[in-house]
Amino acid sequence: MAQKRAMTAAELVPGVMSQIDAIKATYGEWDVHPSLHVDPERVQSVFTELAERLDDNFPFFHPQYAGQMLKPPHPVAIAAYTATMMLNPNNHSIDGGRATTMMEREVLDQLVAMFGYSKDYLGHLTWSGTTANLEALWIAREIRPNKSIAHSKDSHYTHSRMGEVLGVPTIGIPTDERGRMDLGALETILRTGRIGTIVATLGTTGLGAVDPLADIIPLAKAYDVRVHVDTAYGGFFALIPDELDAEAARHYAAIPLSDSIVVDPHKHGLQPYGCGAVLFNDQSIIEYYKHDSPYTYFASTDRHFGEIQLECSRAGASAAALWATLQVFPLTRDGLGEVIAPGRRAAKMWHSLVSDSEILRPYQEPELDIFAYLPRVESMSELDRVSHAIFEMAADTTRPQQTHLATYVVSEPKLAIRGIDLRDDAASARIMRSVLMKPEHEPLIPEMHQHVEMWSERAITRERAREATQEPVKAQAPDTN
Ligand SMILES: *Cc1c(COP(=O)(O)O)cnc(C)c1O
Repeated sequence: MAQKRAMTAAELVPGVMSQIDAIKATYGEWDVHPSLHVDPERVQSVFTELAERLDDNFPFFHPQYAGQMLKPPHPVAIAAYTATMMLNPNNHSIDGGRATTMMEREVLDQLVAMFGYSKDYLGHLTWSGTTANLEALWIAREIRPNKSIAHSKDSHYTHSRMGEVLGVPTIGIPTDERGRMDLGALETILRTGRIGTIVATLGTTGLGAVDPLADIIPLAKAYDVRVHVDTAYGGFFALIPDELDAEAARHYAAIPLSDSIVVDPHKHGLQPYGCGAVLFNDQSIIEYYKHDSPYTYFASTDRHFGEIQLECSRAGASAAALWATLQVFPLTRDGLGEVIAPGRRAAKMWHSLVSDSEILRPYQEPELDIFAYLPRVESMSELDRVSHAIFEMAADTTRPQQTHLATYVVSEPKLAIRGIDLRDDAASARIMRSVLMKPEHEPLIPEMHQHVEMWSERAITRERAREATQEPVKAQAPDTN
């Protein structure tokens, strides 16, 4: 095998584009209609302006960007997507996307194998985790009519919102000191008989917390309730149980016992946006999808994705990009697992550095690759001001020196259950949150930690100086009941 090396999209795209042009040429030439002609100079100037405008972005691609869940797709995905988009297949029907429908089936089989679902699953790619969750909750409503959905209070806001869309009441279950669904509180609600479906989040969007799925499953069985696993962010951590704490690994191992799963290849699967997936552990749910459409062109009698999905048109290019990516990075420990594991180790390493810091302290221990931490300050209001100042100061320097972080809003009780006692002079405060989702983060953590400590020290000093000069005005501020 040839030596592996970094490849760029610029290197890959022209070659695969000319392969697509060659396919097109086999059908004979035709003239592009004059209405579609463009002025090359005009196009050049538009592209110049496009590049200038795109310069206004945080550098998601760079290891020094350790803020939100953002990173670019792999060049293999970019090239495969671009090439396929030239033909623009639509995976709504087999006729709309013959080759890409087959590719989608292959990637779904691979996702199903990663999670340990049975081969008799039903599922498909989606445009997003949101639509994937909507679909899972819609099926849940059909199977458990007139019942409510329970999700943790730290779950993605999409669950309560989609409950509104579907006309299904949703109930937020409190979380424990690691941001996980509280089993006692869940059982109390289950005893009322109101719940039809539990949503377990494996990898919450805020903290990367892992709900106790292995313990939720027997409860769900006892109360005859469905279990939907939202692992839009965390799904691919199923590849690296060896890097997870035993407890988190135990909950990942329970995924095969759930009724449905959502995972977002556009988060940790190296894909461009527009690639989520929903999987059901039971094909009999197909009855809920019945529809009649005079528009659809079903030349093939095989099953079309349009027959088993809420969305209609859907990019075949997404399936092709994921297919190509998984050919190069298979869903194994040695394949994509090697891309996921460094971020998890980076979060552990940063947690241990922050645990020993005199300036910073951890909010909680990370379970995946999301790490939340805060400056050591006295009060809620000071915490909020200092966190925001760290966020701004770390990014406010020359580009190569910048560190990009994110903030996360917490309440005083949430800090208190984690043993962090601050003067309660504000209802909520921002803390720091870093999503370490790029493998390049791992070697950078010691330096990043040093930078963040330095900025934190300066932010604390600056905010205290500011506070001192503003004392007479500020003294009245907290007086608000
Ligand atoms: C990102 C995310 C969603 C929403 O998915 P989109 O792809 O952004 O629509 C839902 N649940 C969880 C846990 C997520 O992390």
